[in-house]
Amino acid sequence: MSNEIYHFKVGTFQCIVVSDGIHTYAPPTFPPPATFLFGNVPSNQLEQTLRKHNIQPDLWTEWISPYNCLLINTGEHRVLVDTGALGLASSTGRLIQNLQAEGIAPEDIDIVIITHCHPDHISGITLDDGELAFPNARFVMWKGEWDFWTSGEAEEKLDEHFREALLGFVRKNLPSIQDRLDLIEHEREILPGIQAISAPGHTPGHMALLISSEGEQLLNIVDAVLHPIHLEQPEWCATVDFAPDQVLATRRHLLHRAAAENSLVLAFHFPFPGLGHIVQKGENWEWQPIKV
Ligand SMILES: [Zn+2]
Repeated sequence: MSNEIYHFKVGTFQCIVVSDGIHTYAPPTFPPPATFLFGNVPSNQLEQTLRKHNIQPDLWTEWISPYNCLLINTGEHRVLVDTGALGLASSTGRLIQNLQAEGIAPEDIDIVIITHCHPDHISGITLDDGELAFPNARFVMWKGEWDFWTSGEAEEKLDEHFREALLGFVRKNLPSIQDRLDLIEHEREILPGIQAISAPGHTPGHMALLISSEGEQLLNIVDAVLHPIHLEQPEWCATVDFAPDQVLATRRHLLHRAAAENSLVLAFHFPFPGLGHIVQKGENWEWQPIKV
């Protein structure tokens, strides 16, 4: 199986998980994975859980995360969800070449949905020369997300460790889309069958998506969870989660819904292709990846 392209259908919609590559999160740029992903957890409790998942706490020195972007061909529109991380590392920025290998040119994309403004989701908006990578697309984002990153609020409220790194990507990528942007203020359909779901916490205006066609559905939970352990321990937050209380409420809402409706689920950072189902386990949940 290709680990960069995965085709599937949601009703009549032709969908592709298109990888932008992988990124290694490790010191000194990032805290060790256990701290980065589960920053608010007592260490004895964390170690026990990691061992249950066959992770040796002392040997876990890097978290290698895939970047799973989504292409939806509705028949009428070609919709891209998130743009990956062009320029972040030599192992990222593969989205456009992977789309081209499928016969999809950047000019063919007419809508780009930005789920939130972290570098791994916005850095493919512009090319190295500053030109728009998807020149014919309109962009869609939650209004609270755009406002947070462009109003000075991010400068004021972000933890100083990540602030400048995050804002550098924002300054490079967001100004060029401001005249081709549709901002969403409440849950609604972006297009028939593509519904914006409010999912704040990871960032102030983080957006999930419900894609439905002919009675089938895909819930794209994006970065509401970063690691499968977050399903089993929904109160465990990453150091990059902006508002932990909101993260927990959002997770409970999305995970409950996905399990109750037996939705196919896509998670941006889960092992490629990031597709699976969420199963209720006691008060919490468990990840069941699809068989590929
Ligand atoms: Zn992300």
